[in-house]
Amino acid sequence: PEKLIDGKAFAEGLRKQIAAEVQVLRDQHGIQPGLAVVMVGEDPASDVYVRSKCKQTGECGMLSVERRLPADTSENELLLLVEALNKDPAIHGILVQLPLPRHINADRVLNTIVPEKDVDGFHPVNVGLLSTGGQALVPCTPLGCSLLLKDRLGDMSGMNAVVIGRSNIVGKPMAQLLLKENCTVTLAHSRTRDLPAVVKAADIVVAAVGIPEMVKGEWIKDGATVIDVGINRLPGSAEGKSRLVGDVETAEAAKHAAGITPVPGGVGPMTIACLLRNTLTACKRLHGLED
Ligand code: NAD
Repeated sequence: PEKLIDGKAFAEGLRKQIAAEVQVLRDQHGIQPGLAVVMVGEDPASDVYVRSKCKQTGECGMLSVERRLPADTSENELLLLVEALNKDPAIHGILVQLPLPRHINADRVLNTIVPEKDVDGFHPVNVGLLSTGGQALVPCTPLGCSLLLKDRLGDMSGMNAVVIGRSNIVGKPMAQLLLKENCTVTLAHSRTRDLPAVVKAADIVVAAVGIPEMVKGEWIKDGATVIDVGINRLPGSAEGKSRLVGDVETAEAAKHAAGITPVPGGVGPMTIACLLRNTLTACKRLHGLED
């Protein structure tokens, strides 16, 4: 197979499949899945994400509800909005875009979303369900990585998988998903000793650190599969055009790896596709039509 793992193409296919399922839901059950995206204040990066989330939601036939609140919205006002969305029968998925302004307790807000509509998979109930093997809604980015790995590798039983980064959003749920696939999982982080040696033993490397090109090409075992979650914006040349790089030295790593995701065009597009998938899943479950 191709060395570069084309997340953009895979995500496109996934979105087509979701759109077809949405059509079936509408035709056979008269149900339209609905996703509400809530954003507080103005953050340019969040703005880009929210816009493309809402656009893609509409494109696959779902109801897209965008709620933008001013930066000085109180925590209480936001909690009231979340509670209203919890009760709204047209809404099956609720996403509160992070980061939130500092005067708002993000955990309190995220924990107020009912777990059944928590399409980001951040609610402690979903975290617990994922780790105990229940019917969880799984965080979108690690879910996307897992789909790419399954597509590329098939059965991952017994493989050594190293996840670098232990965030609640990516690293920890990624480790859980690999464990579910019967990998032998190592969760590495900023205090890990001799990271190069840890990575060298891995058949699967998932890098989610947030440091540009920190994983060196020569660390990668021959034949390994590398998933690069990092999205790091580097200031560009004199013209000031910035460029995106991952957490892995892609070109050098590709000399050893059997497969590797590029940045951009790897994991990034999978994240929104998985958000749509989670919304569809939540909708089916809320209507007792799953799985
Ligand atoms: P985070 O900052 O919450 O976590 C980073 C983790 O890296 C921490 O657990 C830390 O222990 C570990 N770490 C830091 N320095 C290290 C070192 N020197 N060696 C080993 N481990 C180290 O970040 P996050 O939210 O998990 O995101 C990680 C990266 O993934 C970022 O670049 C982010 O932009 C990107 N990201 C991409 C998507 C996507 O859609 N593709 C989604 C979420 C995050």
